Amino acid sequence: MNGVHIILMGPPGGGKGTQAKLLQDRYNIAQLSTGDMLRAAVKAKTAVGLEAQTIMESGRLVSDDIVIRIISDRMKGEDCEKGFILDGFPRTLVQAEMLEKLLAEQQRTLDKVIEVRVPDEMLVQRIAGRFSCAQCGAGYHDVFQQPRVKGVCDFCGSTRFIRRADDNEKTVRSRLQAYHAQTAPLLPYYASKGLLRIIDGALSIEDVTENIEKAMAV
Ligand code: ADP
Ligand code: ADP
Ligand code: ZN
Repeated sequence: MNGVHIILMGPPGGGKGTQAKLLQDRYNIAQLSTGDMLRAAVKAKTAVGLEAQTIMESGRLVSDDIVIRIISDRMKGEDCEKGFILDGFPRTLVQAEMLEKLLAEQQRTLDKVIEVRVPDEMLVQRIAGRFSCAQCGAGYHDVFQQPRVKGVCDFCGSTRFIRRADDNEKTVRSRLQAYHAQTAPLLPYYASKGLLRIIDGALSIEDVTENIEKAMAV
C-alpha cells in the first residue's frame, strides 16, 4: 500500500494537533491522535476509558498495550487508505517497535518524522490558553488563535467551548517530564534512519506549517 505516512513528534502543547489538522487537509489523509482517541474513550466510559482516565489526569503515559490496541484498530479504517499522520504516537520505544511491525504488516512505509521543537518555557503558556470547540473539536488559543468572531467557532458556528482537565500547570510538568524521559529518546532513532526533520515550533502557526511543507519535500 502506498500513500503518505507522517509521524508528528513534539512536547505537550507544542502544536502537533494544530499542524496535524492542516496537514490532513493538505494531503487528504487521516489524523490519528491517540490523545483524542483516549479522551473519546474516557467520555464514553468504556473499559479503556475508565482505565486511562486517572493516568491521563496525572500526566503520565497510558500503558503501551492500551494505546497500541486502539491505534491498530484505527489504522484499518477506510479513511486511512491514502495514509495518515500520527499525532502523539509513538511515545515510547515499545510503541515505536510495535508501529514498525504494524506498518510492515500493512505494507506501509514511513515517509517522514517531523519534530516540532518548542522550548519548555513556552509550553505552559500554550497549554494554559488552549481551548477547543465542543462540537467540532477545532482548536483555539486565548492569545494566539482566537475565533474570528469572539465566542463563535469559525468552522461550525457553535458557541460552546471546552478546556481539557489535564491542561493545568501541575499536570503539564509531569507531561513534560514524560516527554523528555520516554518520548524524546525516539528522536535519535528516527534520525539514524534518515527520516527525522526538525522544525522550529516557536514560530507562528503559519510559518510552522510552511516549514513542515518544505521539510516534506527534502
Ligand atoms: P499539541 O497537540 O502538541 O499538544 P496544540 O496543537 O493543541 O498542541 O497547541 C497547543 C496550543 O497552542 C493551542 O491552543 C494552539 O492554538 C496553540 N498553538 C499551536 N501552535 C502554535 C504556534 N505556532 N504559535 C502559537 N500558538 C500555537
Ligand atoms: P499533548 O500532546 O498535549 O500531551 P495528547 O492529547 O497527545 O496531549 O495526550 C494526552 C494524554 O493522553 C497524555 O498525557 C497521555 O496520558 C495520554 N496519551 C496520549 N497518547 C499516548 C501514547 N501514545 N502513549 C501513552 N499515553 C498517551
Ligand atoms: Zn466548531
